[in-house]
Amino acid sequence: MVDMNALQIVTRKIEPTIEVQTKVIDYMTRYMVERGFKWLLPVMLSSITDPLWPDPAAEEALRPPEVEVYGSKLRLTHSMILHKQMAIAMGLDRIFILSPNIRLEGRSADDGRHAYEFTQLDFEIAGASMDDVMGLIEGMISGLFREARSWGLEREVPRVRPPFKRFTLWEIEEEFGSEEEASRLMEEPFWITDIEREFYDREDPERPGHFRNYDLYLPEGYGEVSSGGEREWEYEVIVRKMRKAGISLEAFRPYLEVAKAGLLKPSAGAGIGIERLVRYIVGAKHVAEVQPFPRIPGIPAVI
Ligand code: AMP
Ligand code: MG
Repeated sequence: MVDMNALQIVTRKIEPTIEVQTKVIDYMTRYMVERGFKWLLPVMLSSITDPLWPDPAAEEALRPPEVEVYGSKLRLTHSMILHKQMAIAMGLDRIFILSPNIRLEGRSADDGRHAYEFTQLDFEIAGASMDDVMGLIEGMISGLFREARSWGLEREVPRVRPPFKRFTLWEIEEEFGSEEEASRLMEEPFWITDIEREFYDREDPERPGHFRNYDLYLPEGYGEVSSGGEREWEYEVIVRKMRKAGISLEAFRPYLEVAKAGLLKPSAGAGIGIERLVRYIVGAKHVAEVQPFPRIPGIPAVI
């Protein structure tokens, strides 16, 4: 199914899925615009990008492909997290982007959730707390599912009501053994909080070793659909965390320059994977089924 030739790709019945995707993107972008968010266009090449490291879900550090552009080496963006923080520094207080990301992950294609080229609705809010962002996402997801129930889908999208259940990562491990198992057993979307990962997610200053970040999981084994956090903005804290992660400071020079000048501001945000959300709403087994041009790790792209 995942390994298709050009004729199989072109002759499969993808139109109903793309209609759902259109409605999903329409709903999500309207939701943001109505709440005063400004819509930025994506950055695909940059001197800096998300290290995606350390990340408990990653098997290895990823190297973003580099392109030589007018004498400088630019990377294909893993995510726009650092650009979101810069946009907040520019005085854009509430922003979102439909951000295309390239991530060459060395994982196998069989978890049904990973594409190496995908799009997230990525947003950031100046001065926001984790509760603000979680509430915003809960409103979006429950409203979207309510609307999706009227789309005449073959599959019944569940009725969900905020607030969604929250677990720390530690509680998930205690109660279910793993995030995957929790996703299989739960019947509604739920949050996992307090995950030690990339330097930009904020460590709780009152509880060192705990993190003010959050992932939204879908039920029925569909797994993670969104990740976000409150952000670090203080230069010394960022540098300390980069050093601890073994990350080259030189690779983040322009970002650190802005941080050192005291221009980064407190903010919080998240990214929601469009393909993963559409996959769940249509009930597809694999994310390749919702991509007109599948981009699945380990499988050569045909078109
Ligand atoms: P992250 O902040 O890295 O968790 O990315 C934000 C969201 O983008 C995730 O929660 C997913 O919904 C989506 N996403 C991340 N990586 C992939 C991938 N390899 N394939 C499809 N969607 C992804
Ligand atoms: Mg994530």
